[in-house]
Amino acid sequence: MRVAVVGAGIVGVTTAHELSAEGHEVVVLERRGSVAAGASFAQGGIVAPGLAVEPFPGLAPWRLAAGVPSRWGWLAGALKARGARRLPPRRQALLRLAVASRQRLLELTHAHDIDFEQADGVLVLLRHERALKAHRAWLALLAEQGLAFELVDARRAREIEPALNPAAPLRAAIHLPQDVAGNGRQFAHRLKAEAVRRGVRFRFDSDVAALRPGTPPSLLLADGSTQEADAVVLCTGAEAPRLLAGAGLKLPLRPVWGVSVTAPVNHVDGQLPHAPRAAIVDPAGGATIARLGQRVRVAGGHSMGGGSDTAPPLPALRALYRTLDEWFPGSAVLRDAVHWRGARPVLPDGLPLIGASALPGVWLNLGHGGQGWALACGSAQILAGALAGRAPDPALAPLSPQRLR
Ligand SMILES: Cc1cc2nc3c(=O)[nH]c(=O)nc-3n(C[C@H](O)[C@H](O)[C@H](O)COP(=O)(O)OP(=O)(O)OC[C@H]3O[C@@H](n4cnc5c(N)ncnc54)[C@H](O)[C@@H]3O)c2cc1C
Repeated sequence: MRVAVVGAGIVGVTTAHELSAEGHEVVVLERRGSVAAGASFAQGGIVAPGLAVEPFPGLAPWRLAAGVPSRWGWLAGALKARGARRLPPRRQALLRLAVASRQRLLELTHAHDIDFEQADGVLVLLRHERALKAHRAWLALLAEQGLAFELVDARRAREIEPALNPAAPLRAAIHLPQDVAGNGRQFAHRLKAEAVRRGVRFRFDSDVAALRPGTPPSLLLADGSTQEADAVVLCTGAEAPRLLAGAGLKLPLRPVWGVSVTAPVNHVDGQLPHAPRAAIVDPAGGATIARLGQRVRVAGGHSMGGGSDTAPPLPALRALYRTLDEWFPGSAVLRDAVHWRGARPVLPDGLPLIGASALPGVWLNLGHGGQGWALACGSAQILAGALAGRAPDPALAPLSPQRLR
């Protein structure tokens, strides 16, 4: 089958790779100049299935900043649906996807010898007794689902992450030893190279202006050219609603913006760097801190409104600098820090859409919110399986676009 994938973020690249592995003839159309240049560019880097079912402030986009009056209607819907997301089938589906995705990520890494600056282990920091109490239910869920974790005291947490600031208040931590952090953009570039080797064509600077559903469907590009295919898969992240609206499908997907700060590790002669060894999540600070090779990345913040050309807002950046300074003071060369702002593509129920849309010939793999890097490899497998006509795992039914019909 000839398949046209629109969008070369982490979801588009993994999808193209899986489709080519199934034997399809794949072309990827991307309006930007390279892969992972949108929301996948400088995201937090954390791959931790347990976080997919725990709405931490730093990772759950539906805990939105207040004061966006024009969006209140949608916000109310999102908060209501957050309750629905907690219903077992939806949580199960998300968790199952997240676990499969982490496994597929590690399989691909191994099979293609991909270096993505992987650091093993994620540590969730609990500053006070009340934070520990607040996370008890989540720990019970991790145990019930068979996810590996260890509740550790502050002393053990500081052994796991020796550079943690000894002066910062820390009651306990939850160590997720099987989870990883890494450079999702680097992974996307390496997997793209593998996909190209398999025969996938990438057409960059190719802005898809209109979607023409049908059997077969086709795409109209902004330069007037067309792309024919037997199937179209939209992996357009937060930008999906515009294309779909033009084809008559309304998608209640919103961009929830976040920011990151990336800076080189500060190496002082004769001393171990004060940087994290792997990754931490600070639920109270609403941020994650990850070691990416010789760099440190802090990510977090939630806001709505503004476009892709809006500069990262200063208050959100300051909050990230504060969190980094609190946990790993002096860890990074801040004068060389790079700021970034990106959009998490979020549906009101917090679940991605993976499968056939209501439009003939058009498939969707989008809406991965604050977990797109963590969920991409598994989502791509599901999409490729559905396109090949394999019977879907019934437990994953909540992820199907049919729920919007
Ligand atoms: C601050 C922040 C921190 C995050 N931290 C994490 C984390 O720690 N772990 C995690 O798993 N996730 C994290 N995320 C979420 C993750 O970044 C996203 O879920 C993921 O990158 C979405 O990938 P995507 O491929 O769907 O979208 P994108 O990467 O945005 O890709 C979509 C692509 O489609 C292209 N496109 C759109 N429309 C068209 C068109 N008409 N024609 C041609 N091309 C088009 C765009 O140019 C873009 O390249 C974070 C996000 C943010 C903002």
